[in-house]
Amino acid sequence: MNQVYLGLGANLNAPQEQIHRAITELKAHSDIEFISASHDYASKPMGPQDQPDYVNAVVCIKTELAPEQLLDLTQSIELKHGRVRKEQRWGPRTLDIDILLFGDQIIDTPRLTVPHYGLTEREFVVYPLFEIAPTLVLPNSQTLADIKNTLPLNDLQQLPQQ
Ligand code: ATP
Ligand code: MG
Ligand code: MG
Repeated sequence: MNQVYLGLGANLNAPQEQIHRAITELKAHSDIEFISASHDYASKPMGPQDQPDYVNAVVCIKTELAPEQLLDLTQSIELKHGRVRKEQRWGPRTLDIDILLFGDQIIDTPRLTVPHYGLTEREFVVYPLFEIAPTLVLPNSQTLADIKNTLPLNDLQQLPQQ
């Protein structure tokens, strides 16, 4: 079994509900053992600013699926939520599920870069991840605590539990 961290984000069509539905769908899947979820966080958009704020969360799961099988699954959940991939990078979306970490694996294939390339620079990933995995060490031996301590909050706000 591999322990995997997923980053969830949404900013359209009741984003907090999108995140919660995605968590329910992950929990219901027979190939996934659900371990934990962070609070939801409100964050400012990356890239284009003319879009609503985001809701983000990080979850920990265990799975026997291979990395690309898990990507197939997370992309199928994104599609079920009406995700439309547009030309514009980092544009608004109903649901994004990124594979942040897959055990200790370092993966570099046309479909998958793990650890996720933005992990250490995104406050909306690092802070929720730290909430559920405060002693986490990345495959390159960096500690998540060190990363968090030098990363500005940038208006990130923990939302009340729903
Ligand atoms: P960003 O990756 O900067 O957060 P995004 O999440 O909006 O942007 P997507 O449109 O969701 O980007 O994904 C684009 C492609 O990224 C996917 O088709 C997928 O093959 C690839 N990808 C590479 N590494 C990962 C990963 N670790 N998790 C999810 N998708 C990945
Ligand atoms: Mg993303
Ligand atoms: Mg994505």
